[in-house]
Amino acid sequence: MPRVHDVHDGCAVRAMALHAEAFGASHAQVGCASGRVNLIGDHIDYAGGPVLPMALHEQTWVAIAPARGEVDRFTSEWRGDDQPQAADGSDAMGWDRYAAGVLAELRAARRAIPPVTIAVASDVPVGAGLSSSAALEVAVARAAIGLIGGTMPARDIALLCQRAEHMHAGTPCGIMDQWCVTHARAGEAILLDCAALASTPVALPRGLAIDIIDSGVRHALRDGGYAARRADVEAAARLLGVAQLADLAAARWSEIDALPPRLARRARHVVRECARVRAAVEALATEDLTRFGELLLESHASLRDDFDVSTPEIDAIVERVRGEGALGARMTGGGFGGCVIVARRADAVRGDAG
Ligand code: ADP
Ligand code: MG
Repeated sequence: MPRVHDVHDGCAVRAMALHAEAFGASHAQVGCASGRVNLIGDHIDYAGGPVLPMALHEQTWVAIAPARGEVDRFTSEWRGDDQPQAADGSDAMGWDRYAAGVLAELRAARRAIPPVTIAVASDVPVGAGLSSSAALEVAVARAAIGLIGGTMPARDIALLCQRAEHMHAGTPCGIMDQWCVTHARAGEAILLDCAALASTPVALPRGLAIDIIDSGVRHALRDGGYAARRADVEAAARLLGVAQLADLAAARWSEIDALPPRLARRARHVVRECARVRAAVEALATEDLTRFGELLLESHASLRDDFDVSTPEIDAIVERVRGEGALGARMTGGGFGGCVIVARRADAVRGDAG
């Protein structure tokens, strides 16, 4: 937990300034967390698969102080369309449900968090598939735990924040985002086994450059679409008689064809995406950048055609960068808009720039 006097980050300063302006308290504590970009392995964390996310340098900062009154109060620099309805946080319905949810889960876990004022500043694009929601949750958790002089293991913070997103924000997300945000250092990729809840750092070859392109598309149906996909994956697992689809042995993949067509497409994506993540880790280890790029393109086609979570705008970006000589590209995150991740040879990037 950084102390106020060692914070030089512009985002931290903005959070503290906003806190002072909105609530008048001058001795705010701070907490922060990074966004993340998923290199490969989407919509398989909740099916028990392996995923390969990377923590971003962009962060969300939260300034927190004990409130003078009896209720929590929230403010953010971000001016999106889900602004809090009740100024006093008594009925968290907008973005404040993420922060209020984390406070509620901390208190349910018997952490004596007093009523607080919270101000949020962030450099993570919101709703773009770069996990601004987990960054917000984890920053709130770290700030609130720091406020009472407590500590909590990273694993527990990740699980608590995932529960907050399920119970209070209404998104039945897997564990990837909260785990990556609590376990990876900025710029570090990790291979996370979502069934075992264990992660290891993965080194990226020096010759590989990763770009993120924001499509600017923010889809209103995102939350409902996410929950519907998760329900499909769980229904397919039940019909196949496995606890999680990632458990389905390759020898049984042919049984997927007998599922109802939509569930078959969802299940095909999950089992193949799990295999692609393992192949991608191998490709990175052997510095086979061509293979890594092919796997990104295969992942994109699967999310587009079998999982139905891409959009025409995202598909067009993938096709364009492919035409421009990228090794590969894919939509990243939950889908329905957001960002494309692009893999290029680092020398090609330098050549473009020069
Ligand atoms: P992602 O996590 O990919 O950015 P989500 O839809 O999961 O997209 O989460 C986005 C939501 O999280 C926003 O609509 C808002 O409610 C909340 N949020 C994230 N960052 C902030 C922020 N800096 N200030 C206020 N709300 C935020
Ligand atoms: Mg999110």
